[in-house]
Amino acid sequence: MDPMVEDKFFIESVTGPIPQEAIGICDAHNHLWIGTVEGNQPNSPILNNYESINSELKYYRRAGGATIIDCQPGGCGRDGRVLRRLSQESGVNIISATGFHLPKYYPPDFWLYQASADQAKTYFISEIKQGLVETLQLETPVKPGLIKIACQLRVRDTPQALLEAAAGACLETGITIEAHTEKGSEAEILVDFFLSRGVPAERLVICHIDKRPDFSLHHDLAIMGVLLEYDTFYRPKYEPEKNLWPLIQRMVANGLEDSVALATDMAEVELWSLLGHGPGLGGFLTIIGPRLKELGLESSLGKLLGGNIAHRLASPPECLERGTR
Ligand SMILES: [Zn+2]
Repeated sequence: MDPMVEDKFFIESVTGPIPQEAIGICDAHNHLWIGTVEGNQPNSPILNNYESINSELKYYRRAGGATIIDCQPGGCGRDGRVLRRLSQESGVNIISATGFHLPKYYPPDFWLYQASADQAKTYFISEIKQGLVETLQLETPVKPGLIKIACQLRVRDTPQALLEAAAGACLETGITIEAHTEKGSEAEILVDFFLSRGVPAERLVICHIDKRPDFSLHHDLAIMGVLLEYDTFYRPKYEPEKNLWPLIQRMVANGLEDSVALATDMAEVELWSLLGHGPGLGGFLTIIGPRLKELGLESSLGKLLGGNIAHRLASPPECLERGTR
């Protein structure tokens, strides 16, 4: 084999494995499609206006965006067939997720929340190796690039079977875990849980932790090897000018620029530009990118806006073939 090819690392996208360096500018946590779910809690987000979503994706591409991670796991509105079509039509790489979300996004009797650790692990691993359940009829099923999990306010109130299953699936396949937290609550306990199961810190991404802008916590998690995902740019409630932007500057100033991934997490329609009147998918490049430059963070921009998350998701090609990253 060509040694250049041998060295390459790949990431599973909805259209197949892509080389790590093709990830480019990548929103590390977003939502591109959320179908309706019968019986879930009213007011759960729905994103199903295909044409508008596709147009915004094309705009993201034209503005310089290459990839977006879709953080909706199966059973709560994910549709891997639609994600693949959106990716093919817009030219944006999309990375999909297996895993589990908060119970309020599922029908009340959804099987996964009743499952044993073994059953849930078998499901995650079968999606990783064979493909997302709703795509198994396709000639080439869509495979996920990560496990998205959702931790509740307290780690102990989160179904232990599902946490164990995510740890087991990560250990068996090497796939990265991206964890929702309730405003960063108990992030350190969640990290400890996974480390105690043997999951490498480098395979953990902790989401929404900028809602808990405690620098010493961020510093400690970064030093351990965890990737921290920040996404309150468009959420005035969390005072991004006071909290998020200084935190980014402080992380970079302290040499922790490899430990932060930026995202926009636009599950709500109002944040989209064509669907609502928000900054839209393109804001990642037209608002956040320029602001990083203004703050003198241009040399870290590539890492914060894609390089870091790509590094954490990537695996050698032989691992993807075996479903073992
Ligand atoms: Zn989200």
